[in-house]
Amino acid sequence: KKTREGKPKWLRVKLPTGKKYTQLRGLVDQYNLHTICTSGSCPNMGECWGEGTATFMILGNVCTRSCGFCGVKTGRPEAVDWEEPEKVARSIKIMQIKHAVLTSVDRDDLKDMGSIIWSETVQAIRRMNPETTLETLIPDFQGITTHLDRILEVAPEVISHNMETVRRLTRQVRIQAKYDRSLEVLRYLKDNGAHRTKSGIMLGLGEEASEVKQSLVDLREAGVDVVTLGQYLQPSKKHLPVQRFVSPEEFKEYELLGKELGFRHVESGPLVRSSYKAHKHIQ
Ligand code: SF4
Ligand code: SF4
Repeated sequence: KKTREGKPKWLRVKLPTGKKYTQLRGLVDQYNLHTICTSGSCPNMGECWGEGTATFMILGNVCTRSCGFCGVKTGRPEAVDWEEPEKVARSIKIMQIKHAVLTSVDRDDLKDMGSIIWSETVQAIRRMNPETTLETLIPDFQGITTHLDRILEVAPEVISHNMETVRRLTRQVRIQAKYDRSLEVLRYLKDNGAHRTKSGIMLGLGEEASEVKQSLVDLREAGVDVVTLGQYLQPSKKHLPVQRFVSPEEFKEYELLGKELGFRHVESGPLVRSSYKAHKHIQ
């Protein structure tokens, strides 16, 4: 059975509900706070916010890259807002977030590629919210270790970097990125003291099951602790088309394989997003 938009029934989403969700929604509107959860109308808001998890994007909302799957605008980003670390820390306090996921656009235009704001944001959050745990979902920083070291130094509980797709489709899906460079980033983080590393791939972009399995093997070999697999959905007609809807059963198979390979956590399902159940991944 399909929904009105032609999606299979397992992608039908419930409107977010719950007391905690309603309360947070009010705060977000009142204080004009910026979360990816609301701007991306994520299907998991009721659940995540109910658990005290939310995702915040830093370094503006214009990206220097132009990944074919991503709804973020490409262009020349605005100037860095040095007050941003404090603003994000304050949002987290107002929302009483227990586990925050931070992510950013890619800032290939900046000498430090945004790594200084990244570091300052983590520090500001720690100062204002000492109990809040953090996941930093970082760009590849073009593999430059000086920038990666700035993230390692502030020791977020989880450091993630998404592969987004299998090796063969990487050029098509994220033109300015490289499969091996992203793997190297993850390996470097783990070898240099990251507590937990994490990565994610989207399915439905034209990958074969064998390629997904190879990606899982590659990630495990790079020492990655947590992996997420979810269905790709096209943000607009201009983005890469959905090649197929992966069934819940196939997602389950990847979950079992991931566990066999030794990942600490595998989140695999149609509605899984990289920050879904993120609070569990610090364990
Ligand atoms: Fe927000 Fe991520 Fe949860 Fe979606 S999955 S509601 S973006 S924290
Ligand atoms: Fe989107 Fe990240 Fe790609 Fe920029 S680098 S276009 S924010 S996925």
